[in-house]
Amino acid sequence: MIKIYNTLTRQLEEFKTIEPKVVKWYNCGPTVNGLMHLGHSRSAIAFDTIRRYLEYRDYKVEYIMNFTDIEDRMIEVSNSEKRDVLEVAEEYLRYFRRDMSSLKIRDGTVNPRAMLHINHMIEFTRKLIEKGFAYESGGDVYFDVRKFDGYGKLSNQKLENILQEGTEDAENPNKRFPADFALWKSKKPGEPYWPSPWGEGRIGWHLECSTMAMFYLGDTIDIHSGGQDLIFPHHENEIAQSESLTGKTFARYWLHNGYVNIDQEKMSKSLGNYVNIVDLLKYYTADAVRLFVLQTHYRSPITFNEDSIDQAQITVNRLFDVVLLTKNYADETNEIKETKFSDLDKELSENIKNARKDFIEAMDEDFNTSNGLAVIFKYSNDVNDYLRKAENINVSVIKEADSLFNEFRTVLGLFEDFNSYLSLDTVEKLIKLLIEIRGEFRKEKNWEMSDKIRDDLKNAGISLEDTPKRILWKLTEQK
Ligand SMILES: [Zn+2]
Repeated sequence: MIKIYNTLTRQLEEFKTIEPKVVKWYNCGPTVNGLMHLGHSRSAIAFDTIRRYLEYRDYKVEYIMNFTDIEDRMIEVSNSEKRDVLEVAEEYLRYFRRDMSSLKIRDGTVNPRAMLHINHMIEFTRKLIEKGFAYESGGDVYFDVRKFDGYGKLSNQKLENILQEGTEDAENPNKRFPADFALWKSKKPGEPYWPSPWGEGRIGWHLECSTMAMFYLGDTIDIHSGGQDLIFPHHENEIAQSESLTGKTFARYWLHNGYVNIDQEKMSKSLGNYVNIVDLLKYYTADAVRLFVLQTHYRSPITFNEDSIDQAQITVNRLFDVVLLTKNYADETNEIKETKFSDLDKELSENIKNARKDFIEAMDEDFNTSNGLAVIFKYSNDVNDYLRKAENINVSVIKEADSLFNEFRTVLGLFEDFNSYLSLDTVEKLIKLLIEIRGEFRKEKNWEMSDKIRDDLKNAGISLEDTPKRILWKLTEQK
């Protein structure tokens, strides 16, 4: 049974979809006014992984993630770069798609763009006015929050507190009440605009997501997600608009991911800017970034610094070694059918079953990837031990082991691109090349250089053994 922490009820709830085995999910995507950074990637990777897990558990997931291409922050960038907002959107959208694809974040079922839905948003606004939940004032249209009883239920605050905290644009004389929010904003100099029944202007950001969610998924959806910073006012306002329009629950489960804190002190100067994904990926693999993100439960904050991502890279490389070794054995031993099972075979077979069960148990509990990864690391150690100790590798057991690694990889989106790593074959060629070079040094009696190569290889976990006929190399135990 899958349990989800629901921001709306502030508790863990059993996950029940409206339609059996179908998940209707809207995730608030990024505003495309700059390059994709760690904060964006954390949210995208966390929800991409949850989506993959739900698919692993046999759900069909309709996953809608928008790109916000028109709102205040888009206009700011368009003005500062002196370029049309559409041009800014096109460019950064292209970069976002590139970076998301590098990080193996899968495309949504649809990735809608707000600008293509302006007519639907105008229609939404018109209906809210008709129903008495919104009003036109000086060419703007506002949502009347006092008309919606549940205002504040997601962020768990009363209207008095919201007013005390101070609301955006509170002094605006066009508003009847300081907490009311804009559905439609009249045209301002230097801003893009569209025609509407209330004159030329543009749509309010909050309405964009409500409209697109309902357009693609219907009045009531299963999951709505986004970063914690979106709980108020964005998601609170989405609920108010949508539920006022339909009289139905808008989203049954609200999921919010934690922040990424950048530990500036522990960032090297040369890489100072690598919180942008495109820069980060010059130094680290996508798998390291995914692992770094998934090591923490999606609701908890993450602190990013160079040490932590370095560590993630080391961890993911070690995991890869075992995954690849297992895959090589499983592929090689295609034809033979095993009949004998040693104690080691039986033990690994048991470990495989337990690892699958434990992983599901961890992930079922609000998608706890942190615990899920702990299961995978233990499992990887078990497989590694088996490969080192077993006198004969049992075909059927190693195939099972490989297939469980594949399940884990699919859920976590790891090692989709085997080519981004050096294969063992390539490593072997490189080591042989070094051995050859060392041989040349030895011929020249350059013991200093030949010893250096041997010692450096040893530090890298590769030991050389000089035998009379040839030089043998093997991997030594690494801490
Ligand atoms: Zn949104």
